[in-house]
Amino acid sequence: MEKTLTKNITILNHPIISHNLAIIRNKLTDTQNFKQALKKISYALIYEASKNIFTKTVEVETPLMKTNCEVFDNNTQLIIAPILRAGLGFCEVASELLPFANVHHIGMYRNEDTLEPVWYYDKIKKILDDKSKVQVIILDPMLATGNSAIDAVKNFIKKGVNEENITFVCLISSPEGLKKLSSAHPNVRIITASLDECLNSKGYIMPGLGDAGDRIFNTVE
Ligand code: URA
Repeated sequence: MEKTLTKNITILNHPIISHNLAIIRNKLTDTQNFKQALKKISYALIYEASKNIFTKTVEVETPLMKTNCEVFDNNTQLIIAPILRAGLGFCEVASELLPFANVHHIGMYRNEDTLEPVWYYDKIKKILDDKSKVQVIILDPMLATGNSAIDAVKNFIKKGVNEENITFVCLISSPEGLKKLSSAHPNVRIITASLDECLNSKGYIMPGLGDAGDRIFNTVE
């Protein structure tokens, strides 16, 4: 189901994903169908992103015998960090699959002239003192220039989170963004459903899907 480009870059490859990506990319797809298709791909992305989350062994008694099972480790902390606003598109599925996670909203918009991120919100409850027990999954549908992704990663590193405990999830990535993020933070895992062709002069991914936030929230001009 997945293709591993380098140790830490995974591009999902599956007919259900490509079928739904075609729906998402189509400019004639309305918001309802866009969100339905995004949800179907989100499950695959979040499963892959959470494949290394901390678990512990517990004993469970089936109707027939006792057995050991792996369950989420509630002595650790998992932070889901959607970058507003498009990252919210992944949040429902992420919270459904990982209900014990803390959701840390990151408010950032892109200065359209410089293409640099501008922060306006960064909120989290306390991060565990033992940073070896903290994992972060950053959510943003589009890895375009890579600038916001790098800023979001740096923000968690500044708070003491280990780079290797950070995963970045996106729907579509540009070669430029993928290279920039993986060079700046080689230990961050990157999970994407597509590696597209390039960025255009306005920093949009080609062929892409347009503005992800506008398509999710039905604010296309
Ligand atoms: N953000 C988007 O929503 N789309 C792009 O193509 C690039 C950044």
